[in-house]
Order: sequence, then structure tokens, then C-alpha cells
Amino acid sequence: MRLRVLGSSGGYPAPGNPSSGFLLEHGASKLWLDAGNGTFAELQRLTDFTRIDALVLSHVHADHCADVYPLHVAPRYGPGGSSGVRLPLYCPPGVRETLAQLLMAGGWEELGRAFDFHTVDAGDLVEIAGVRLSFLRTDHPIHTLAIRAETAAGILTYSADTGPGADLAGFAKGSDLLVCEACYQEAAMGPPVHLSARQAGETARRAGVRELALTHVWPTLDPRVSVEEARAAAGDLPVRWARSGEVFEIGSGAGAAVESFPG
Ligand SMILES: [Zn+2]
Ligand SMILES: [Zn+2]
Repeated sequence: MRLRVLGSSGGYPAPGNPSSGFLLEHGASKLWLDAGNGTFAELQRLTDFTRIDALVLSHVHADHCADVYPLHVAPRYGPGGSSGVRLPLYCPPGVRETLAQLLMAGGWEELGRAFDFHTVDAGDLVEIAGVRLSFLRTDHPIHTLAIRAETAAGILTYSADTGPGADLAGFAKGSDLLVCEACYQEAAMGPPVHLSARQAGETARRAGVRELALTHVWPTLDPRVSVEEARAAAGDLPVRWARSGEVFEIGSGAGAAVESFPG
């Protein structure tokens, strides 16, 4: 498996780093995890969006789902008319209703023509294109799901947004790669609806993962400091900042930076 970072900026997009979004590849399978602001543009550098097997949203905060709006336009309008593509979209309860509100009258039907919605929740097991997904309810002000993706090749866990109150370490147990939010630093803490880099490092160590990728670093913070703070808490683990363009090999090639896509 391979994870390509479309964007990872915490809260709002930064220059050169869109909000949260990742492309998970396993053979010919392609899963798009979170569609924060700017990630749809980055995705198009890598693949035709109609080739995506599914979009999986962790929650309905805009920095994780705002690109659903351009994405609902793409298959339906433009030269040649509708492509007829309905992208499978997996999301926590209530997300479809919230997304439809911005489109106002007819929003529900409009989204339904572009997406095939599937509601998922903690405890569910879903298999999409050969990738098994499970979910954990995180410690965040709205219904948010961490995502664990497993294949014979390896295991990825993505924290989504969470405070320290969820059992993320238990959920991520034995993962090859933990993509963990690290919104704060020791000298720049905020409300406990997110983790600090140190907490991300401690979580990775407790979970026994092979590699840690930091995401959702607040745009005004220096990610090099975040990596240092996470490394100090993670023990003997590779730790990297998951900035846009980074590629993580999961499983047999874990720990190796293989390439970055152009731009
Ligand atoms: Zn967020
Ligand atoms: Zn959030």
C-alpha cells in the first residue's frame, strides 16, 4: 500500500499545503481519505477522479470535506454533460444532511446524483476494492471517525481530528503507519479537541506502530519543531511531517520516502 499526501494543513490551508486529504493506493485500488480545501486539485495531478473507488470522510468540518462541493460539480456539468459517474462516499452519520444545507433547496437530490452515500460508524467493518476499513469515534466536538485500513500488505491508521480522550493507541495497535494529527506544540497548546506533537508521539509509541506521520499541524507553527517534539516522545520510530506531496510506503517498504509528485 502507498499513501500520498494531498494536503495536511490543520484548520485552514497553507501556501503549498491544502487542508487534510490523502490518496491510499493498493494495487489498482484508490481510496481518497478526507477532502479538505485544495485536495481535489492535488488529486487531479495524480489520477482521474472518476477512477477513485471511494471517498471516505472522517467528519464534516470544512477542512476535511469542503472539496465535496467542487467534486459534486465535476461529474455532472461541463462539456459533454453528465459523465454518469456516482462516486461512492463513506461518511459518519449526519454528514450528508449537513453537506446538503450549503446547496440549499434541492441539495439532497443534487448530492445524491453525484455520490452514492454510505453511512459508517464506530464498530463497522467495510471492504472497498480489497481494502478493509474500520472506524473509531474520536474525541472531537462533532461526530468524527478515525480510519484503519488493512490489506495483506499492511495497515494504515489515520487519526482524523481528535483530542486525547479517544483510545487511538488501541485502535492503531500494530499499524505499519500511523498518520496522526499534531495540531499543537508544547509552547502553543489550544483547546483539547486536538493533539500536540508530543501526544501524537506518545500515541505512536503506545500503539507500537512502525512509522509516524504528523498531520494537521497548525499553519503558523514550524513543522520541524513538531517533528522534534514527536520524536522525543515516540521512542525509536521514524517520524515525518506529512506535507502535501509526501509519499509513504506502507508495509514492506515502510519508512522509505520513495518519491514526491511534481509541483
Ligand atoms: Zn481539522
Ligand atoms: Zn475537525
